[in-house]
Amino acid sequence: MNAEGPTAPRILIVEDEASLARALQLELEHEGYRVGVAGNGYEAVARASEGEWSLILLDLMLPGLDGFEVCRQVRQRSAVPIIVLTAREATGDKVAGLDAGADDYVAKPFATEELLARIRARLRRSTSPHQDGHRLVVGDLVIERDTRRVERAGRAITLTRREFDLLTYLAENTGLVLTRETILNHVWGFDYYGETNVVEVYVRYLRAKIDEPFPTKLLRTVRGVGYSLREG
Ligand code: CA
Repeated sequence: MNAEGPTAPRILIVEDEASLARALQLELEHEGYRVGVAGNGYEAVARASEGEWSLILLDLMLPGLDGFEVCRQVRQRSAVPIIVLTAREATGDKVAGLDAGADDYVAKPFATEELLARIRARLRRSTSPHQDGHRLVVGDLVIERDTRRVERAGRAITLTRREFDLLTYLAENTGLVLTRETILNHVWGFDYYGETNVVEVYVRYLRAKIDEPFPTKLLRTVRGVGYSLREG
């Protein structure tokens, strides 16, 4: 599977051991991923907040800010998948890493194939909205259903209840064009008797919050048909 090009997933490697970081970088680039490297915890937090990462590979044993703390800080602002790497086999580390908000764990030394398989599994989960019931991901937009949290490129976005419901419905049907009528029926209900342009009005509200502050647009108007939320 080769995913090269401007739409290839971006992976941030956080590893203080330069030779290992370099080896990982080469492996991942060979697989077609775009790769960034941070050599310590502070740099990791700074790079992570640049946003638009598809996944972070995080070593736990780092000078300065350790991996647990990096994980906690990144997690406060972002739902980006994090796979923790550590030399220690101790199950205590695994638990602590997962507690700090990591999604998966790979013990060093690891077989490259195993790491690549874990990365693919994580990326699949975060790019296929239906595989993860409580989290919807479209590009760098993340919707957490249970907490009703929305963020884009790592930045939290505050939505009203109706805006959230509209966005969730669009994200559940990412890539499809939804008519105003379909949206109205699903988000407002079949018994809605208010203004007929309510969908347009709310799409405008939503666009101002989730698209206008960002260079790439996700919410499309398909003239004469309806709306579509999609990446690229
Ligand atoms: Ca290390």
